[in-house]
Amino acid sequence: MKYPVRVRFAPSPTGTLHLGGARTALFNYLYAAKHKGCFHLRIEDTDVKRSKQEYVDEIRDSLRWLGLNWDGPIVFQSERKTNHRYAVRQLLKADKAYRCFCTVEELKKERENAIKSGMGYQYSGKCLDLTLSQIKLKINGAEPFCVRLKIPRGMTKFTDLIYGKISVMNKEIDDFIIQRSDGNPTYNLTVVVDDSDMEITHVIRGEDHLTNTPKQILIYKMLGKRIPKFAHLPMILGPDMKRLSKRHGASGVQEFHRQGYLPQALLNYLALLGWNPDTDQEIFTVDELINNFRIEQVQKKAAVFDEKKLLWVSGQHMAQSSSKELFDRIRRLNPDWQIDTDKDYLLRIIDIQKKRIKKLSEIITQSDFFFEDPGTYDPKTAKKRWRDETINKLIRGYIHRLSQLEEWTEKTLESELRELAEEMNVGASKLIHATRLAITGIPHGPSLFLLMELLGKAICLRRLKVALERLPLLLDSDEEGVGS
Ligand code: GLU
Repeated sequence: MKYPVRVRFAPSPTGTLHLGGARTALFNYLYAAKHKGCFHLRIEDTDVKRSKQEYVDEIRDSLRWLGLNWDGPIVFQSERKTNHRYAVRQLLKADKAYRCFCTVEELKKERENAIKSGMGYQYSGKCLDLTLSQIKLKINGAEPFCVRLKIPRGMTKFTDLIYGKISVMNKEIDDFIIQRSDGNPTYNLTVVVDDSDMEITHVIRGEDHLTNTPKQILIYKMLGKRIPKFAHLPMILGPDMKRLSKRHGASGVQEFHRQGYLPQALLNYLALLGWNPDTDQEIFTVDELINNFRIEQVQKKAAVFDEKKLLWVSGQHMAQSSSKELFDRIRRLNPDWQIDTDKDYLLRIIDIQKKRIKKLSEIITQSDFFFEDPGTYDPKTAKKRWRDETINKLIRGYIHRLSQLEEWTEKTLESELRELAEEMNVGASKLIHATRLAITGIPHGPSLFLLMELLGKAICLRRLKVALERLPLLLDSDEEGVGS
């Protein structure tokens, strides 16, 4: 029988949502969307000491910002204790699990002896031999116990959708603990009970859980539950080839948000961390990701996080986005941004800037010259671009032509400049660089003529004239820069 696809993302709220977690959520989301299935969010908050509400909120907000919306209500693992305990009781009743009364000291000794004799440690199975009356006596004496799974003989096999066929000899699996002495079931038990109750068909998660999978399959079998399919995603490494972590700088989704990345760009980049689309296409919208994504195309090989590539992907998405969308996002990021400026003017600035900048925050930080005359001129550029008297002459000539110009457009501004350069027998770039410096105060920016068109005649002429007065001073002085 074919079951409708149901997947889940199951983070533990013990930290913020980092890139690895976000990629796991994304691949689950894509898989569900592609197969018209459901994507659920389950918060695994059973570790009371380490789980925090603020992390639950942060994970939820990050997923929402990314647009990875889940179906139905969030499932909180901590609210499912009765089901977990019921499963443990069932396993005990069916003699598939047993109580272990060994103390911490006893277990420590066992472990030390195993290490001394050079053997890998496994629980000795001592408590397997307890008789019913011995067990009763200990329980009545309130001796603490944990519950262990009785690992059967044989072999556990499964086919991972990414890692392929995997088989493990059961004798290599310890009689692991499924319920601690404080009565709390452990991860391997709770995850099986929850995935089973939620009718999860595909478990898609990080490869660090690959070794847990045979243990979980044993529990599924012992409880008589349907075993889902598994897909383990490759590790993400930092540029130093070590597992990506906070050491590598930004790794939390909210940091990327605050830095001004677009969510669709981050999703696009995350998809490429491990997934090979088998085409030259690298820029995908979310819908394209859904259509193109195939779990079989995810590689086993670890993926390496490359911030430069992320920036490039981000720039491509900036250029593709509507200026209205970018405007709304900038205002959400920084509600006070140019609050007194006309919205149409801001939209035109975004039109111009989005083609060359990589993040929303760069529109904020690299657009000052659209709002105010340059207070200072970049000294290095001034030295390089305003070198001699010929520049003054050129600028004077350009001012003269511009003041007579009736049609103030990108095109006319450019042709006036080029004609003048030809007339004066200099390269146009000489004049372009000097004009840019005079108008913006900095060496780089969007298309000069486009920005001059937007600034308008009065402002451009004013800035050129002011530069003509102030910039030559720099030539005569050794000062580092010309300031106001
Ligand atoms: N809470 C586990 C984690 O964050 C979930 C693992 C799983 O998906 O089974 O690693």
